[in-house]
Amino acid sequence: MQFFKDFLGLFYPNLCINCTRNLLKNETIVCTFCNNDLPLIEISNIRKNQISEVFYGKISIHSAVGLLYFRKGNSTQKLIHKLKYENRQDVGSFLGNWFGRELHENTQFSSVDHIIPVPLHKKRLKKRGYNQLTTFGTALSYQLKTSYTPNILIKTVTNKTQTLKNRFDRFDTADPKFKLTDYEYLENKHVLLIDDIITTGATIEFCCIELLKVKNIKISIATIAFTERT
Ligand SMILES: [Zn+2]
Repeated sequence: MQFFKDFLGLFYPNLCINCTRNLLKNETIVCTFCNNDLPLIEISNIRKNQISEVFYGKISIHSAVGLLYFRKGNSTQKLIHKLKYENRQDVGSFLGNWFGRELHENTQFSSVDHIIPVPLHKKRLKKRGYNQLTTFGTALSYQLKTSYTPNILIKTVTNKTQTLKNRFDRFDTADPKFKLTDYEYLENKHVLLIDDIITTGATIEFCCIELLKVKNIKISIATIAFTERT
């Protein structure tokens, strides 16, 4: 059945990613029914919420926001999977425009100077052919009227054992993982670091350790999806 659906998708790309119903002319990515059913994250305080709490006491961030809850088998997982592994980069544009319109109403985000994606290692980038955050970040920057700055933060080491290492190891500066190509460029700037899913927050933490080497930088975080604590 799944094969049949995938097969159909080749010829009829205008199917809802979640339920594979035919999309109407005014619908994109998901049908209205599934769209209304997406597990939206309600955030009333962008400075203090369940996402910012992940980083509390670890790194200093200004604010943290997320669009959708990620749970095993839910519609968010399907969206992210399509975006990440099936080259459906239009999913990123859809989510970026949506999130951007919401964040635009919040004055805290009007001061963002640069949107920076969590980078992929160049080997991974070559294999996948794209960074899954490119269309999301571009759409977000368009809505927030700010610049998308993808190549300033690079990944230097592939992470195989990252999650197994303890906290002290992760702060070992001899093994930086993420590196900025230009520190001065971000001085006194408000940076919005974006990722697709935040679970433990370790990747974001690594990026922030590097970003916080910049003088007077302000970091906010926006993620497409967030895995709720259980
Ligand atoms: Zn649907």
